[in-house]
Amino acid sequence: MNEYDSNRIFDITKKIGFTKTENLEETNCYLLNTCHIRDKAKEKVYHEIGRVKKKFKFKKKPIIIIAGCVAQAENEEMIKREPYIDIVIGPQAYHKINDKIKEHIDNQEKLDETEFDTISKFDYLNKIQNSSKKVSSFLTIQEGCDKFCHFCVVPYTRGPEHSRSFKEIIDEAKSLSENGVKEIILLGQNVNAYNSNDYRLSDLILEIEKIREIKRIRYTTSHPRDMTEDLINVYSISKKIMPLVHLPVQSGSDRILKLMNRKHLVRDYIKTYEKLKMINQSIEFSSDFIIAYPGEEEKDFKATLDLIKNIKFINSFSFIFSPRPGTVASGLNLIDKKISLRRLEKVQKQLFDHQILMNKSLENKEIEVLVENKTKESNKFFGRSEYMTSVIFDGNDEEVGNVVKVKIKNSNQNTLFGESLKLKRRVA
Ligand code: SAM
Ligand code: SF4
Repeated sequence: MNEYDSNRIFDITKKIGFTKTENLEETNCYLLNTCHIRDKAKEKVYHEIGRVKKKFKFKKKPIIIIAGCVAQAENEEMIKREPYIDIVIGPQAYHKINDKIKEHIDNQEKLDETEFDTISKFDYLNKIQNSSKKVSSFLTIQEGCDKFCHFCVVPYTRGPEHSRSFKEIIDEAKSLSENGVKEIILLGQNVNAYNSNDYRLSDLILEIEKIREIKRIRYTTSHPRDMTEDLINVYSISKKIMPLVHLPVQSGSDRILKLMNRKHLVRDYIKTYEKLKMINQSIEFSSDFIIAYPGEEEKDFKATLDLIKNIKFINSFSFIFSPRPGTVASGLNLIDKKISLRRLEKVQKQLFDHQILMNKSLENKEIEVLVENKTKESNKFFGRSEYMTSVIFDGNDEEVGNVVKVKIKNSNQNTLFGESLKLKRRVA
C-alpha cells in the first residue's frame, strides 16, 4: 500500500511542479514514506534523515517530509526529536500535501498533519489521474481496519475501515488500463471486507474482468473471516482471477488465535482452503505467520507446523512477534529470544523447503508469464507466474505487457529461469 500511496503522492505533487529524481543530492524536497507494522521502522527514519543531513552539510537543505504510518504514530514528536524534519503527514491526510508544502515555504513553519480524513482524501484523489504505467499496478479499494487484532497497529495508524465507491474504483481501473496496465492488484488492509453500498470485492473483480486489456486480477490482504461464499464463488466464474490466495492465518493454534483476537478458528481456515481446492485443484495458498506470540507454547507452535504441512503454503511471510506501542499485546511478556528465533527458523525451513520443491516441480514445464520488463542484462526479461513467482527468461521486447509461455529450465527458492517459447521457435 505504501508503494501505491507513494505514487499517488507523486501524482499530487506533480501539480505544483515537482518531478522525481533518483539523485538524492539534487533533491529540493525529500519525502520518506514509512511503515510502522514492525519494530525498528522509527529508528530507520532517523537513520535515513542522518544520511540526508550528511549529504546536505554544505548545501541548502531540502524540505524534509515524513509520510506514512510512522508519521501518524509519532506525529509532532518526530519534529521535536529531529528538527531537520519540516513536515509530518499521516496516511489519511496526504491529499493536503501541496498546501502543506506551500505553507511551509511561505512561513518556514514546522507542520504536523495527522488527521484521519479518508473520505476527503479519496474525493481529492479521484480528481487526479493515477499515472502508473507499470504492467502490474496496485489499486487501493479499501483502507483501515476495525478488527483490532491484539498485535496490530493498523487500526491506530490507518484508522477505521473505509471502502471507496464501486464507480471510483472501476473508473480508476479503466484509466490504468488506458495507461497500459495489464494486471491490477486490488489493495486494502482488509481487502475482502470491502463493502460499498452492498458492492463486495467479488463484484469488483467481476466488473474489472470486463476490461479487455486487463489480463490478470489479484487482491491483498484478506482476512479469513471475510472469505465469503460470493468471493469463493468468483474462483469458479472468473477467468482473470489468479489461482494464488494470500490469506494470513498467523497461527495454527486456536488458543493463540483467541489470544490474538483473530475471531476465526483453524478449522474455518481449512474449510475455506478445501472449498477453493474443490473449485480448482490448482489453487495454492500463501500466508502470514506471527511466531512466538506471547503465550505461545511448544504445542501451539507444533500446531502451526502441522498446518503448514497440511496446506503446503507457497510464498509465505513469517515474522517474530514485534510489540507495537498502543496495542493490547504491547505489554505482554515476550518469549525468550533464542526460543523465538529457533521457532522462526523451523517455520521458515518448512515454508522454504516447500517453495523450493514447488519451483523445482516446474522445471522442464511450460508456464504462463505476464512479462513486466526487460532486465539490465541483455535479452533477459522479468515477469511473474500465475502464483506471483519471479521468472527471468530469454525473450524479446514485443513480449513486454503480454502473457507468454515460458519453458522453465532452472529454479531456486524465489525465482524460475527459462526461455520464451516464441524465442525458442524463432531460433530453431
Ligand atoms: N489484515 C491482514 C490480516 O488480518 O491478516 C494483515 C495485514 S498486516 C498489515 C500484515 C502482516 O503483518 C500481518 O498478517 C502479520 O503477520 C504482520 N504483523 C502485524 N503486526 C505484527 C506484529 N506486531 N508483529 C509481527 N508481525 C506483525
Ligand atoms: Fe491488523 Fe489485519 Fe488484524 Fe486489522 S485484521 S488489526 S489489519 S492484522
